[in-house]
Amino acid sequence: MEIKKGIPVSPGYAIGEAFVLDSEEFRIPQRFIREDEVEGELARFQRSVQEASEEVQDLAAQSSEALGPQVSEIFKVHRGLLADPVVLAEVTRRIRVNRFTAEYATTRAFRKYVKAFRGIRDEYFADRATDIRDIEKRLLRKLLGARREELSSLTRKVIIAARDLTPSQAAALDREKVMGFVTDAGGPTSHTAIVAKAMEIPAVVGLETITADLAGGDTVIVDGNRGLVIVGPDPQTLVDYQRRADRFRTYERRLAAELRDLPAETLDGHSIKVMANIDLPEEVGAALARGAEGVGLFRTEFLYERNGQVPTEEEHYRAYRAAVEAMGGFPLTVRTLDLGGDKVLPVGAVAHEPNPFLGCRSIRFCFLRPDIFKAQLRAILRASAHGRVRVMFPMIANVEELRKARSTLEDCMEELRGEGVPFDRDMEVGMMVEVPSAALCADLMARECDFLSIGTNDLVQYTLAVDRVNERVASLYQPASPALIRLMRDVVHAGARNGCRVSMCGEMCGDATYAPLLLGMGLRELSITPTAILEVKRVIRTLTLRESVAVARRSMAFATARQTDEYLRERVRALAPSGRE
Ligand code: PEP
Ligand code: MG
Repeated sequence: MEIKKGIPVSPGYAIGEAFVLDSEEFRIPQRFIREDEVEGELARFQRSVQEASEEVQDLAAQSSEALGPQVSEIFKVHRGLLADPVVLAEVTRRIRVNRFTAEYATTRAFRKYVKAFRGIRDEYFADRATDIRDIEKRLLRKLLGARREELSSLTRKVIIAARDLTPSQAAALDREKVMGFVTDAGGPTSHTAIVAKAMEIPAVVGLETITADLAGGDTVIVDGNRGLVIVGPDPQTLVDYQRRADRFRTYERRLAAELRDLPAETLDGHSIKVMANIDLPEEVGAALARGAEGVGLFRTEFLYERNGQVPTEEEHYRAYRAAVEAMGGFPLTVRTLDLGGDKVLPVGAVAHEPNPFLGCRSIRFCFLRPDIFKAQLRAILRASAHGRVRVMFPMIANVEELRKARSTLEDCMEELRGEGVPFDRDMEVGMMVEVPSAALCADLMARECDFLSIGTNDLVQYTLAVDRVNERVASLYQPASPALIRLMRDVVHAGARNGCRVSMCGEMCGDATYAPLLLGMGLRELSITPTAILEVKRVIRTLTLRESVAVARRSMAFATARQTDEYLRERVRALAPSGRE
């Protein structure tokens, strides 16, 4: 049994069989062969070794001419490994004795060496581990040919292990078949993590080497509450986790039954508006079922992810109209396209920018492509004739950008008026505060829009210079750092002084630990992933505003995020102990 620690991004427990997707996205199922198939399978393996070896020889020759002897040397090492009698015997034994298929025997044997080499903390062995992975892949390509198994054609329930999942892969996961997922890469607020939470799939990311540590068919436990992945659990651990999973499910059901229809109100009678973040129009139902009083963030990138191309105005319109009509009179805040960063690559944008999070992302891309931007704005306006729609601009960094976005919106209004198309002329217009320059000038922004929504996912990354999707700096990604707390407090005050509503829609407000701090800071509107709504509501209902103000004041006095986190965790545990553990 091995226990790996990663970053918990979606709560819950999953126990099941691993399905390992390597970076080339094929997986090797655990399959057995009959005795009379052994010779055929051995021959298949030998053929793949022969072909791979010829391929590597060609590569060595080509690279020696084109790239010099050093690169060519790498392929010579690969060739040596392909002829290594110990490695070959290991695979042969697994085919003959264990009756594994050639591909499964290959992957098991090679992974064993990769793991052993990675375990020796030495650069030379780390490089050899990479070489072995390379050869494994080459052999698997030969063995599998066109028979690669796809994520989209899962036939049984599994736990996915991947280097990373693209947001569209994560969104396309079959909820019925995928019990959990674990990845090498990713940070706490990567888009993939957000999608996992929305789909209620327990997930742990940032495990660094999980795809190398696991082989398809291994039994795994995903502990999405603590960020643990247990490989090959012993019988006692399995029983223990089955109990935990049962307790968790019972707790969640009870929470839903008790809290769904109760208001998010503090003990001293202050109402907090709890809204939902959604990524797909179909999530409106789940949000309202948990008592959301509207949608505070409707991400619209799904329109790109679904079709892989620029959506038409009609496609935008149909999606927004469907969503607002399902809202039952509650407001729907549609955020304009936020492409780039860790989300889908904008069609027609500069591909492979050196720093995608600092490049033509989001509103900058929309300004580069007014045709795409206007199609979306026209659709949002048209949908506003069918319910309470608000529009929100992402990544605004200065007042000029806010004005430019508003003026494009006005152009669209003018056009629709001319065409006699109905829309809400008083539609509220707001922006996300997720770039430090916007937070520092929140007063200037507040004077020119109806609402501000603090997007902590990006505000943390840009303020602390910590990539939100890089697992290697995940420990530096600290929403409770003094810098962030001060910035957020100033934004809330700037909004209040200028008559502009301020809400928060980053993942920070979906973590119930921060509820007293945020309320005490003056926030009265939170927009949260639907699955986190009830837990946050539960904590709000145990607080008084007076006490929250005191907690916020105390939090602001700490010099480090760690002290603040510890203090808040302890306060919330004392006030409202959770049954999630
Ligand atoms: C944010 O940055 O806090 C946010 C809510 O937007 P996204 O996670 O989509 O970047
Ligand atoms: Mg953002």
